[in-house]
Amino acid sequence: MKKLKIEEIKIYETFENKLAECPFCVMEKNYEEQLMHSILGERIMDIDFYPKIGNEHKFCEIHIEKLNRGSDKLGFAIMLDKIINEEKKKLHKNKTLQKNDDSVVKKLLSLSKKTSKPLNGKADYECFICSKLDENNKDNIMVTIELWKKDTDFRVLYKDSRGFCNNHYINLINELEKSSDKKNIVDMHEVTNEIHLKNLERLQEELQWFIKKFDYLNADKPWGTSKDSVQRALQKLLGNH
Ligand SMILES: [Zn+2]
Ligand SMILES: [Zn+2]
Repeated sequence: MKKLKIEEIKIYETFENKLAECPFCVMEKNYEEQLMHSILGERIMDIDFYPKIGNEHKFCEIHIEKLNRGSDKLGFAIMLDKIINEEKKKLHKNKTLQKNDDSVVKKLLSLSKKTSKPLNGKADYECFICSKLDENNKDNIMVTIELWKKDTDFRVLYKDSRGFCNNHYINLINELEKSSDKKNIVDMHEVTNEIHLKNLERLQEELQWFIKKFDYLNADKPWGTSKDSVQRALQKLLGNH
């Protein structure tokens, strides 16, 4: 048995799922769910976290909506209660709410949508969840690059993967280009480009078969793997959206 660190095992296991259009998206989604669960669960009761809601810890529109759609209605209600408290405090202080007042609700909900997607290591997000996801993505990419360098079995797994979504492909290439250890990653750079192109072509073929299936001449022919190709093409192009 080879010795791997916990964060390496997570990467290994995700790459072992050969059906994922992007292993980094799978890890991102899992981490996002864990984060939202902990924000509305133990963190909402945490005396360090709770007072910062609405001030230091803000959330973009997309994450407010995701928290709203989640199953933890109690946690979300406590969060909204806290936000209303912050609003009331402001009203008491200012007597009347100014038109251009930078209220908590406004701060919470006015974070622009374009800042809600990971920005490739530039963790300047205002949204607590977005910035955590960005940090985590960066760590996952760094661990993947280290695994490539030292583990030949992982390289086989990597070459055999379905590649990455466009966002994570760009993140990965940027990290490889920034690396000072060019010697050990030059082949990773090439393989990453190869699998990205190969898998875009594979997905396009599936999508084209999906389109052809609408021709009545093909109505009785099997779908093959193309039935969910539209969703997978979206995942490939947009990542988690
Ligand atoms: Zn991705
Ligand atoms: Zn966010």
